[in-house]
Amino acid sequence: MAFSILIVDDDTAIKESVEEYLKLLNYTVKSALSADKALEILEGFNADVVLTDIMMQGMDGLELTRKIKKSYDTDVMVMTGYSADYSYEEAVQAGASDFIFKPFRFEELDLRIKRVLREAEFTRERTKLLKKLEKLAITDALTSLYNSRHFFSEIKTEIKRYSRYSRPLSLLILDIDFFKDFNDTWGHLEGDKVLMGIGKTIDTCMRSMDTAYRYGGEEFAIILPETSLNKACVVGARIKDSISSQVFEPEPGKKRSVTVSIGATELVHGEDFKSFIRRTDKALYRSKDSGRNKLTYIVSDTKDAK
Ligand code: GH3
Ligand code: MG
Ligand code: MG
Repeated sequence: MAFSILIVDDDTAIKESVEEYLKLLNYTVKSALSADKALEILEGFNADVVLTDIMMQGMDGLELTRKIKKSYDTDVMVMTGYSADYSYEEAVQAGASDFIFKPFRFEELDLRIKRVLREAEFTRERTKLLKKLEKLAITDALTSLYNSRHFFSEIKTEIKRYSRYSRPLSLLILDIDFFKDFNDTWGHLEGDKVLMGIGKTIDTCMRSMDTAYRYGGEEFAIILPETSLNKACVVGARIKDSISSQVFEPEPGKKRSVTVSIGATELVHGEDFKSFIRRTDKALYRSKDSGRNKLTYIVSDTKDAK
């Protein structure tokens, strides 16, 4: 892939000779005689590096560098004469990646451009890797839902948001019914397939603003921001019914399905995350105690209903 360079210099002779040399090296090159013209070109030209003179009529190279770094993910290299009143520090502070003194040998310019390009590639790779790691750290490997570590951090964040904006916030906790029996009968690997299947079902049944977590081994949690208890129960019921109608085949010809019990609650004013989760768990255990494959909600510790 050819890298693209924008040259900015109000000295026509320098601009043209640098342009010619870089074209010979197979860079895609554009050039401008002023900073304003360069900014205009950048609107339609995706430059990997902008190579700018510092001392120019009108906007100087430092101001141009600042403007470019504000709007683009482009490296800037500045060129200056030894006699100029500009320092290396100023250029770096403005956001320049490198600094070259005029007159320079073209070979040196090319080496410096290549180094800037290499560093940019390294930074991109590192950013990509960090993003991947960040995602891995909050993802459950089996179901691809978020993991419990992320659950605890998000529930606290959502509770803070609730306190700030007083918007409703609901929570669902699901637990697979008689899952030990399923594992004992069909084996752990088949049990894992059920967990994966349930993860997918939850993912397709919830709304875009909801987030789902594998909260424990066979327990799932769904945080529903901006959602009253009524609506949370509608989402929960949809998930419960979709799960029970899902068919697994742990052995060829043996079709089986599983059910889940669900607890639902809406955060009440002044409640912390521990009490919120405890109340949802309590609702879940009422679903278990009253026959499983059910959704139970608790309005508050004193006032509850089924
Ligand atoms: P209940 O309806 O009361 O919830 O009954 P249960 O059998 O589901 O509950 P119990 O707590 O006795 O057992 C939970 C089971 O979940 C036991 C364990 O083998 C299974 N389990 C937990 N994590 C995993 C996992 O990662 N993979 C598989 N396959 N099974 C798991
Ligand atoms: Mg359990
Ligand atoms: Mg269970």
